[in-house]
Amino acid sequence: MGTRMQAVPELDLVIFGGTGDLAMRKLLPALMRLQQDELLPARLRVIGVAREPLTQAAFQALAHDRIASYQGKHFDPAGWDRFVGHIDYARVDATDAASFDDLAQRLQAEPQRDRVFYLSTAPRLFSTICDQLAAKGLITERSRVVLEKPLGHDLASSRDINDAVGGHFGEQQIYRIDHYLGKEPVQNLLALRFGNALFEPLWRRESVRDVQITVSEELGVESRGDFYDQVGAMRDMVQNHLLQLLCIVAMEPPASISADAVRDEKLKILRALRPIEGADVAHKTVRGQYRAGASGGKPVPGYLEEERIKPDSTTETFVAIRAEIDTWRWAGVPFFLRTGKRMPQRVAEIVVNFRSVPHSIFGQSAESMNPNRMVIRMQPDEKVELHLLAKQPGDVMNLQPVHLNLDFSQSFKSRSLEAYERLLMDVMRGNLTLFVRRDEQEAAWRWVEPIMNAWKASTDKPKPYTAGTWGPAASSALLGRDGLAWHEEI
Ligand code: NAP
Repeated sequence: MGTRMQAVPELDLVIFGGTGDLAMRKLLPALMRLQQDELLPARLRVIGVAREPLTQAAFQALAHDRIASYQGKHFDPAGWDRFVGHIDYARVDATDAASFDDLAQRLQAEPQRDRVFYLSTAPRLFSTICDQLAAKGLITERSRVVLEKPLGHDLASSRDINDAVGGHFGEQQIYRIDHYLGKEPVQNLLALRFGNALFEPLWRRESVRDVQITVSEELGVESRGDFYDQVGAMRDMVQNHLLQLLCIVAMEPPASISADAVRDEKLKILRALRPIEGADVAHKTVRGQYRAGASGGKPVPGYLEEERIKPDSTTETFVAIRAEIDTWRWAGVPFFLRTGKRMPQRVAEIVVNFRSVPHSIFGQSAESMNPNRMVIRMQPDEKVELHLLAKQPGDVMNLQPVHLNLDFSQSFKSRSLEAYERLLMDVMRGNLTLFVRRDEQEAAWRWVEPIMNAWKASTDKPKPYTAGTWGPAASSALLGRDGLAWHEEI
């Protein structure tokens, strides 16, 4: 983003959890693609770290087999051959100080290199990993640490993690990942909003009727039942991804694209979110849990019948919230947030609905179409569209909805980077703009916690919805009270 920063020429990227799912499915493939585009530092060493005793060759073979099996026919053997020389392995048990010695020796043999420690392990290990890195003298001024979610399960536990990591790394060295921020349409939204004078006058309460942010999954909990049952949709999706997307849509123009200028504006939005507490929780939020239904044309079990789920669990698999931002720009504009498992489609999108014309000269049918909206879609496809009404060709004045594609992928030759490619690039270049600052993360917890507490204290259970639908009926009613509807219902 912004002026192109050069990756440092010499860098050690140490991936704790190097044999794990995230490393194999996302991180190593992203690095491999960056290598193909010649975007990696010339002297990059990627050191996978885990407890399993593996030689460098065995780790390379494991990575090859796992990536080739994930990528199937898209796997590029020649690309792999160019990339594999960067990969090394060190056996470390995060809970055993002595096991860090080998890694330490290898890093210290090349003290001039920048170091990135990517913590792709369970967060309970973050503290001990940072303590050990510090004890071995491995954290230099030119070191960075990357933290994967979940960063705590509430404000207190997120503070504990931040204190533990912050005890050894300065805030400017800490990269908290929210991979939605790395997606091309999110950055395109920033470009459209702040690179053009066109949209800014419209981007406010006078012109915007409501904003809808949806991140839905078609899948259920799959094999992650024990993890998910302790977390739920609010912690897994709303506290981080949905609130980050809301910040990008709603923030004031930052003075520059520098990390702190952008993050200051996002923080102001989080702080301006009207608290939802007490009786408001029942009015402004919906929590749901899926029952047996169908997905992809096949019958699927309900949440309570899934493996490793407590039969009386009240964990929510769906959340819808009517949020409000108490600022001059947004007063009175509802921001609807929605996320859920076992929905009809895997979708991540932001829909900005503009107000109707004050008086339609084309009659009632045109007025009721409510035509103007901007759709920023991150999944399943990446696009930005502006929906308008236009005249259908012919002898009568018949208006029909049309949309302009605003992502201009045809206009540019360069390939767009996937989220993890972009974020790894930014870590290597030392650009924090797309990473979440501690105060943002804590402000987000401060807003969601009263809602979670009210749900916990309530005797009401999550509202049931049939797998394969867009959630409980109460979710539609949440918008219906404002005379609105989720955009797919219009
Ligand atoms: P995973 O498949 O369970 O992998 C965990 C990794 O940590 C393995 O490499 C494991 O190898 C290593 N490990 C476990 N205990 C260790 C220890 N004491 N010392 C050193 N290494 C240890 O987990 P994952 O799915 O890759 O997820 C990693 C982190 O990213 C989690 O915090 C997860 O919530 C987060 N995340 C994952 C995804 C995803 O798509 N998978 C997405 C977003 C966030 P050994 O057992 O050999 O030590």
